Amino acid sequence: MVQIDEKIESMYQEVLKRNPGETEFHQAVLEVLESLGPVVAKHPEYLERKIIERICEPERQIIFRVPWQDDKGIVNINRGFRVEFSSALGPYKGGLRFHPSVYLGIIKFLGFEQIFKNSLTGLPIGGGKGGSDFDPKGKSDDEVMRFCQSFITELYRHLGEHTDVPAGDIGVGGREIGYMFGQYKRITNRYEPGVLTGKGLTWGGSLVRTEATGYGATFFVNEMLKARKDSFDGKICTVSGSGNVAIYTIEKITQLGGKCVACSDSNGVIYDEKGLDLDLIKRLKEVERRRIEEYVKTHSHAKYVPKGNIWDIPCQVAMPSATQNEINGHDATTLVKNGCIAVGEGANMPTTPEGVKVFLEAKIAYGPGKAANAGGVATSALEMQQNAGRDSWSFEYTEKKLEDIMINIHRNCFETAEEYGAPGNYVLGANICGFIKVANAMVAHGLI
Ligand code: NDP
Repeated sequence: MVQIDEKIESMYQEVLKRNPGETEFHQAVLEVLESLGPVVAKHPEYLERKIIERICEPERQIIFRVPWQDDKGIVNINRGFRVEFSSALGPYKGGLRFHPSVYLGIIKFLGFEQIFKNSLTGLPIGGGKGGSDFDPKGKSDDEVMRFCQSFITELYRHLGEHTDVPAGDIGVGGREIGYMFGQYKRITNRYEPGVLTGKGLTWGGSLVRTEATGYGATFFVNEMLKARKDSFDGKICTVSGSGNVAIYTIEKITQLGGKCVACSDSNGVIYDEKGLDLDLIKRLKEVERRRIEEYVKTHSHAKYVPKGNIWDIPCQVAMPSATQNEINGHDATTLVKNGCIAVGEGANMPTTPEGVKVFLEAKIAYGPGKAANAGGVATSALEMQQNAGRDSWSFEYTEKKLEDIMINIHRNCFETAEEYGAPGNYVLGANICGFIKVANAMVAHGLI
């Protein structure tokens, strides 16, 4: 791991002081700041204009009450967030997360990473993130609808196709986006598809958006493997989670010749030596909204391990696709020891700093989330393009665009790492490449 430059150390200390208790945000900031020493040495103007200090302070943070009634008529109160981090490259763009663990520190870590991720896509989008501590699990459709309506009734005034464009994340998929879009339309009396992405295909959504994050992460790993004269062909893979990102990661790995043997949810791990039955997983998770343990009801040869650790299962390619900090130093060591040669992060910040250190020291192909999972937001930006042109592209055309974007991101990270003397270090490559574009735009826009 690169040591933090002493000029930047005091900026990090200031972030700790100004944002007490927000540990995930601290972690995300440190990871980027550690890479920036050689950048400020080349660009003293970034120091003079306090670009780093400014980038660490969100442009705007919105926190609001979300009252809603459950099916029994009982009033519930949740807290809503939207952190509009940076509009240097375009309107704020980033998903909404509905999960009981959500608090300001989670939204800020996600929003901060989003700035650089969105920059890496090469598309004109700024960085933001939002969500709520609402737990959609176990709620009826009507309850989810009432919550989404209340949430957007407050947030709508901050949104707009040129201002701020949310999408999905954990706990927010097509159903939730639909309810929020409906309420937005009702309040504003405007059919404005460009205000949210991840919409349904018959009312402004883009083909491939559902698949995009998982497909994109797999394309990224494929490029890392190609750079090492290797491929997915015949590789044993494990993919944590069983939500949107995990499902389409498994699908694309399988299409590229790999074999996925394990996935998970927050209750446990499924191991199927014969290769996961993706149709069953899609039915359980996307249609019936059930738990992954039900997989073994029809596939008795497979194993379900309650509270198991998916990273104990030997694999050549690991794709964490559930949540932050799901691979610690010990897990990373186990993966490397068991012969893992590539890790591609579908999730955001799924590896702890100790885990990242293990991967970098072992010199395996390690694709950090802000590069590897950028395909989701990139396809959201393609959805915005289609909405602006009142157009609708074919699956093949959109998927090709996504693949080209991921190939480009890989190339830029790879080349930047080489340029800065750290060949093969995609963490450094992604951070520097993502940062420079935002920093230059901030310099050009003056002190705002
Ligand atoms: P989903 O809600 O569709 O799925 C999340 C999956 O992760 C579920 O299987 C969930 O299990 C599991 N999970 C969540 N928390 C935990 C936990 N603490 N321990 C173990 N498993 C857990 O979300 P997505 O697939 O959309 O998001 C997954 C990750 O990908 C997140 O980090 C997200 O930020 C990131 N991401 C998503 C993008 C997108 O386009 N959707 C874009 C870029 C990144 P359970 O049902 O038990 O909670």
